[in-house]
Formats: sequence, C-alpha cells, structure tokens
Amino acid sequence: MKMKNKRTRLTRQRKIILETLQQTRSHPTADWIYQKVREQLPHISLGTVYRNLNVLKKEGKILELKYGKDVSRFDALTTDHYHFTCEKCHRIYDLDVALNKDLEQMVAQKTGFSITYHRAEFYGICSDCQKSDASN
Ligand SMILES: [Zn+2]
Ligand SMILES: [Zn+2]
Repeated sequence: MKMKNKRTRLTRQRKIILETLQQTRSHPTADWIYQKVREQLPHISLGTVYRNLNVLKKEGKILELKYGKDVSRFDALTTDHYHFTCEKCHRIYDLDVALNKDLEQMVAQKTGFSITYHRAEFYGICSDCQKSDASN
C-alpha cells in the first residue's frame, strides 16, 4: 500500500472517532467509542481506537478523564470544566459553573506552590435519579 493512502485512511479514522466523541456529552469509555465507530468503520480494531484517542489527546482535541482504577472516560469538551458523577447511574455530567480561581490562590498562598490548574470532581445523586427515587 502506498504511504499516501495509508495516511488518508488514518486521518479519516481519527476524524470519525473525534466526531463520534463530539456527538455525545456522556464522557464515554474507549469501548463505547469503539462500538459506535464500528457502525461506520466495521473493520476498525479496539487497539486502533485507543491509538487514535491517544493522538487526539496529545493534539489537545480531547481530554482523558482518569478515575483511579476505573477505565478512562473521554471528553471532547477541552475547556476547563468541573464534572459531577452520579453515584447511582454513574453518568458524568459537565457542570456549567465557573472555575473557582480563589481556591488556586488559597492553595498557592498556603503552600508557596505555583498552581497551573486544578480539577474538582463532584459526587452525589443527579436530578433524574432523585426523581425516580421519589416516584418509587
Ligand atoms: Zn443519576
Ligand atoms: Zn466534561
């Protein structure tokens, strides 16, 4: 196969993977992305999906969210934002609240460290789950 064709194919795969991620706000796992992408690219492998996600991450087009030992989730929203994880349905929501820069100042003052950024994760029960609890 000629190099040029290979490169075109790789770019197309990456574009489809990125678009798939941009079409959801659910912060999916690589496995979920793989299942979706297969609808358009039936011969793609999970390894290829992982490799492309890594390239997209390095290019700053997506974020990888790591939660301890759990599998990584991916996010096409790359501006700094907080997340809320529902402890019941395990959905991850983007929070539309401003980042608390005071917190960075507070930590900087207390420690003398220079803060680049901070992440915060909120946990609890989402409004959908609260509603279904109330109706039971
Ligand atoms: Zn929930
Ligand atoms: Zn997000």
